Amino acid sequence: METGDRLVGSEALRTVVETLRAAGHQAWAVGGAVRDSLLDRTPGDWDVATDARPERVRSAFPRTHPVGVEHGTVGVRVEDETVEVTTFRTDVATDGRHAEVAFGASLDEDLARRDFTINAIAWDPVTGEVADPFGGIDDLEAGRLRTVGDPDRRFREDYLRILRAFRFAARFDLEWDAGTRQALERHARGVSRLSGERVRDELLKTFAQCRSASKALAGWQESGVMARLLPEVAVCFGIEQNRWHTDDVGTHSLMVVDQVHPRRPFLRVVALLHDVGKPPTRAVHPKTGDWTFPEHEKVGAALAEQALERLRFSKREIARGRHLVRVHMDLLPPEASDAAIRRWIRRIGEEHVWDLYRIHLADWWGNRKRAENPPDPLVEMYRRVRAALREEHALKVTHLAIDGHDLIEMGMQPGPGIGQVLDRLLERVIEEPTLNRRDRLLQLARSERAAV
Ligand code: ATP
Ligand code: MG
Repeated sequence: METGDRLVGSEALRTVVETLRAAGHQAWAVGGAVRDSLLDRTPGDWDVATDARPERVRSAFPRTHPVGVEHGTVGVRVEDETVEVTTFRTDVATDGRHAEVAFGASLDEDLARRDFTINAIAWDPVTGEVADPFGGIDDLEAGRLRTVGDPDRRFREDYLRILRAFRFAARFDLEWDAGTRQALERHARGVSRLSGERVRDELLKTFAQCRSASKALAGWQESGVMARLLPEVAVCFGIEQNRWHTDDVGTHSLMVVDQVHPRRPFLRVVALLHDVGKPPTRAVHPKTGDWTFPEHEKVGAALAEQALERLRFSKREIARGRHLVRVHMDLLPPEASDAAIRRWIRRIGEEHVWDLYRIHLADWWGNRKRAENPPDPLVEMYRRVRAALREEHALKVTHLAIDGHDLIEMGMQPGPGIGQVLDRLLERVIEEPTLNRRDRLLQLARSERAAV
């Protein structure tokens, strides 16, 4: 069994398999880690499939924790590694959204319920034996994505497999088995039935795992998946821009996604959504006759918010995404004053500054018409932003040398008036940082109050 001998497992994996074997059970390494090893890629965590029931698995090892008890998965800790051990199971009922599973199956049955042949290979790390009943190794070698069994049935059982297919194809740069691709097209509309949470998790996984995420997203677009899940992005395709852009809005957005690092999957979501305001705002420029998109960032922020809500992102992420889309056109000219830079930081929010820089760079690089290097004004602007942040000048109310208590002690009534005075003081300090001293601010506050 040459293929199996070539693979390298971990110490923990061997310990788990040997322990289960010694207790009279079958135990195999399965799933993504086997696939990744066969591709000579560093595998993630190892998964083991066994005929032992979860209770047996728990009693066979000193350190275990339940992972998904309803799915029969037990986490086994060996040294500082976790191996997930799952009891062989078959799907007894599926409805396109989830599966009901039953234990008591064989290895072959367990492999048969897996989605793609490349994910349905089992390996025995002790003997080197490989079980590959669906020809997954051949498909891996040919670089081919194919479902286990009848593709129509497999997509109908769980429409998430459609999104998984685009992810695996992009991640490993696979070609489509023709039958698999045709069935996928036939069932693409089924993705409408998936919960927002599952779509969100799958989108984030796609962004975290695929450097060229655009390949997966282009598949979403061609198959009609995008129109079902992110219609505001789908309508960006075919929307031609202006003399500054070679690509239509949709193609440009996908290129911008690729320009954000996979380590920042949420920022890639923002990149995907950054121009969704363009289709509804497109107009002919009265002077140049070229296309313009007036206030597309404003309209886009509202559309992005809706999309993020639909995909059940957290309140914080929704606010962050909305804000970044809203400010993505906010760039300062080279002649901006230091005070203008500080006002800009206040508008953007310190915590968003570097995210916005990444979006600005990606937006630039995601446009074929432009040069490789970011433009000097952009780099210079962020250099000044960095310098302004280092100065530690006040950029928000909490940076002021006085606070609300000082104003109340001064005799002001508690209430919204306090915040308004602090805001006005901050505006003054942003213009003139040397004002940020307790005595000066109290003096200013007195005249502010007198002015009200
Ligand atoms: P990753 O590197 O993303 O973890 P993976 O292949 O390990 O990739 P998981 O989602 O961790 O993917 O699932 C582990 C295994 O379980 C897969 O390799 C596959 O065999 C099976 N599997 C997961 N989700 C499904 C599904 N929706 N339908 C059928 N089989 C699935
Ligand atoms: Mg996995």
